[in-house]
Parts: sequence; structure tokens; C-alpha cells
Amino acid sequence: MSDCCTMTEEKPPNPNKHCCPDNGRAGAEVSVKTIAHHLKHPWTWRDAGVRYFFCGDPECNVVYFGDDDSVITRQQLRTRVGVKEAVPDAPVCYCFGVSHADAVQDASIREYVIEQTRQQQCSCDVSNPSGRCCLKDFPRHS
Ligand SMILES: [Zn+2]
Repeated sequence: MSDCCTMTEEKPPNPNKHCCPDNGRAGAEVSVKTIAHHLKHPWTWRDAGVRYFFCGDPECNVVYFGDDDSVITRQQLRTRVGVKEAVPDAPVCYCFGVSHADAVQDASIREYVIEQTRQQQCSCDVSNPSGRCCLKDFPRHS
């Protein structure tokens, strides 16, 4: 079972993690399946059989990088990476099509998404290019 939507605190970066060759920051590991679901031309991409990671830094153009220092940039994806876009229509939740503006305007959307994840109706592990639950990307309401 996937644990993508357990609402635990973010763990400190694992020292075994590889760092983005562009900005030098560690990223969370993603599956080859996730990458293939977001690549523009997945049939032209060759899985080198290494571990792949997601770079969530908004300033960095790299989305995925491998243990072999191979990189996949935003331009190579067919999916928009919401955490790398500071625009109102940037996608936040990929399972239910929630934009950043939606989430800002209506705080109850977050409750809806939480309820869906509770009922295992989400597919963040594949639908979200980060391979992880979108709830941490929701804008905070005070
Ligand atoms: Zn990066």
C-alpha cells in the first residue's frame, strides 16, 4: 500500500539521498512510474536503472534527477509542476484538479481533499509529479 498521504511531518533529508546537480539540494525519491506519467515523450526516455528524485525547489528548473546525475527539466514534462510556478492557476492537487487560486478562495477544499485521502480516493503517488501527497502544498489559511 502506498503511504503517500499519511499526514506526518516531513522527515529531515536522508544522508543517502542524492542531491540535485543544479541547486545541490536533496530531494524525495520518486518511482519510474511517476516519472513516465509526467514526461512529454516517455517513449524517448530511458530508465538507467538508478534511483530518481524530485527537486521541489521553485527556483530550480530541474524536476527529476538520478543517482547518475541525469536530469529531467520542466520543459520535458507534459504536466505543469505547481510548486515551481508562482501563478494563481498553478496546480496544487492533481487528483481533484485544485488550483492555487481555488485553494486560497475556498478553505473547505482542503478538508475535501483530506477526506478523500482518508478514504483512499487519491492517487498522488502517480498523479502528482512530486510523487507525494499534495496536502503539504496547500496554501495555509490562518
Ligand atoms: Zn533542483
